[in-house]
Amino acid sequence: MPKIPVGLGYKLAYKGAKLGLWKWGTTAKTGFFSLILHSLIFGPLGVAIVIATLFHELGHYLACKLLDVPASPPVFLPLGGAFVQHGWTDPDKEVFIAAAGPFGGALAGIPLLVIYPKAAVWNGLIQLFNLLPIPPLDGSKVLRGLWMPSPTAWIGVATAVLAAALSLVGILMGLHA
Ligand SMILES: [Zn+2]
Repeated sequence: MPKIPVGLGYKLAYKGAKLGLWKWGTTAKTGFFSLILHSLIFGPLGVAIVIATLFHELGHYLACKLLDVPASPPVFLPLGGAFVQHGWTDPDKEVFIAAAGPFGGALAGIPLLVIYPKAAVWNGLIQLFNLLPIPPLDGSKVLRGLWMPSPTAWIGVATAVLAAALSLVGILMGLHA
């Protein structure tokens, strides 16, 4: 998800992540709060979107683990969205880490197609939005990978293409379900 620090709550959330304060208990607590808030506002669709957001962030987190980059567990922001804060790393690794988020989110769209097609459509749109090549969205980091002479970056770009394709499938199949 994009990192848009708005207000004190957001600033504290990022600061805490940088300091290593956030543990998996934080993921559980902030995720639960987000779940309640979204279910009250959007109903079942809100619940599905929060779960898909968790998959998106786990994508970033697992990519960090895979590449041996220190990362905070996912932290949900009060009014929507979430983030994983990771330490400085090589630019080509950044490409893969950025792409893994939308890929994880798009994967969540597969079960959603079966159990809740409307949520699969929204999830696909959210993942595609995150793949737009506009800072601070994940897509802007992926785009840089096109000019990098690094297999890690290319795998990242390929992962993003796969995520976009999966998201499109989720949207189209969800609309026709
Ligand atoms: Zn992301």
